[in-house]
Amino acid sequence: MYPDEPIPMPPEPGEVADTEGSCPKCGAPLGEVVETKSGKKLQRCSTSSWNPETKESEGCDYVRWLTVAPKELDEVCPKCGAKLVLITSRFGKKAKRCTENKWDPKTKQASGCDFIEWMNGKTEELDEDCPKCGEKLVMYTSAAGKQMKKCSTNKWDPKTKSATGCDFIEWI
Ligand SMILES: [Zn+2]
Ligand SMILES: [Zn+2]
Ligand SMILES: [Zn+2]
Repeated sequence: MYPDEPIPMPPEPGEVADTEGSCPKCGAPLGEVVETKSGKKLQRCSTSSWNPETKESEGCDYVRWLTVAPKELDEVCPKCGAKLVLITSRFGKKAKRCTENKWDPKTKQASGCDFIEWMNGKTEELDEDCPKCGEKLVMYTSAAGKQMKKCSTNKWDPKTKSATGCDFIEWI
């Protein structure tokens, strides 16, 4: 994991899934459901519009994130043997979660099997040298599909939450 990746959080199962209704902020109808590059779905207030000149959205800023329906996997939970599903968090991170994991909106607590496996990005070796230190570069693809070239000596230390080694990074 790298600093640009938010700390993995379980998805919020309490999120609303219906696409009907009106904006809780201004009462206008909600716009169409749009899908982001990383597969997340959201609905904006229909009074909001994007101004390409100022690069800011105008009007009401209400955004409703929609729950992405979990996809059933052909794998079983190593803890309890129930089916696993593929879920996508609102940050676009993917995880395998046990279907026996239930969310209780009343107590705001998860019950049942707690197995979850976050899918991390992958790193491939490149035949290129780092312009900063001369070591090899690697291609890093995040779980959300973003790609960057980085120095192979660069490591992320989860204990200190800081990167070590050469800090060369080139976003693709
Ligand atoms: Zn609104
Ligand atoms: Zn399980
Ligand atoms: Zn380097």
